[in-house]
Amino acid sequence: MNRCSLVVSTILLLPPAIEAQQDFSKVEIQAIHVAGPVHMLLGSGGNIGVSAGADGILIVDDQFAPLAEKIRAALKKLGEGKLKFVLNTHWHGDHTGGNQEFGREAPIIAHTNVRKRLATRQTIFGKEIEPSPREALPVITFDDSLSVHFNGEEIRALHVAASHTDGDSVIFFTGSNVVHMGDNFFNGTFPFVDLDSGGDVLGMARAVEDVLSKLPADARVIPGHGPLAGAAELRSYLRMLRETTEIVRKRIALGWDLERIKAEGLPGEWAGWGGGFIKTDQWLEIVHRSLSRSSRKP
Ligand SMILES: [Zn+2]
Repeated sequence: MNRCSLVVSTILLLPPAIEAQQDFSKVEIQAIHVAGPVHMLLGSGGNIGVSAGADGILIVDDQFAPLAEKIRAALKKLGEGKLKFVLNTHWHGDHTGGNQEFGREAPIIAHTNVRKRLATRQTIFGKEIEPSPREALPVITFDDSLSVHFNGEEIRALHVAASHTDGDSVIFFTGSNVVHMGDNFFNGTFPFVDLDSGGDVLGMARAVEDVLSKLPADARVIPGHGPLAGAAELRSYLRMLRETTEIVRKRIALGWDLERIKAEGLPGEWAGWGGGFIKTDQWLEIVHRSLSRSSRKP
């Protein structure tokens, strides 16, 4: 076993927050109007983006299957139209768990690797995730980008390679000036980067930078996790990604091992970012493993 695999084993202690093991009876779905026909639903798991209007309903991600009834009730309040499309930003269960319910009502659209990973056994936090049932799989897949013309605007899904996973898309509501970032944006907290699903910390920073370069200053930004944001919050998140990654890179160059890097921690400026589901120690492990891995690439 090489040293990197030892590092992996410590990451396995993360809480299984992306799995449907919690009690959903107390979860309430809260709807927030974002702009034009676009809304955001907060519940448990990844934030849901919604387009509700004359053409019906389109959702981006669908949290967990046990929440489907509550999500349907929340959608009904936003528009009487039928559910027409489901987009998945990536394969994780806290974003696609509802597929087995909503996939019976509307076609699911996602990047090719989302279907690949949902259709086969995956490992996350050291736990095996069984393949999803057929009705939960995307039926329309794409490699680079795909547009749905819906409720008066182009809703464009753009694949961002090797970032949170290898199958992520960001979704632009081009007329409403809104972007759903999926899990390439945790607003105000360190993100999870799924290195075992082809994710990469530097790739995530590149993806965020690319989105920012396309984003008008007054755009609204729906994060995968955390409250609704704007370009300013996305920029400060990018600065966190870049600066904390640079700190770890420099320490690796000095010959420090992970234990020493963790013992030294991060400057106080970044302390608040460890208050989410990824703590500071876990973030340092993820960055360390991601950088150690990319430096071995030819
Ligand atoms: Zn995720």
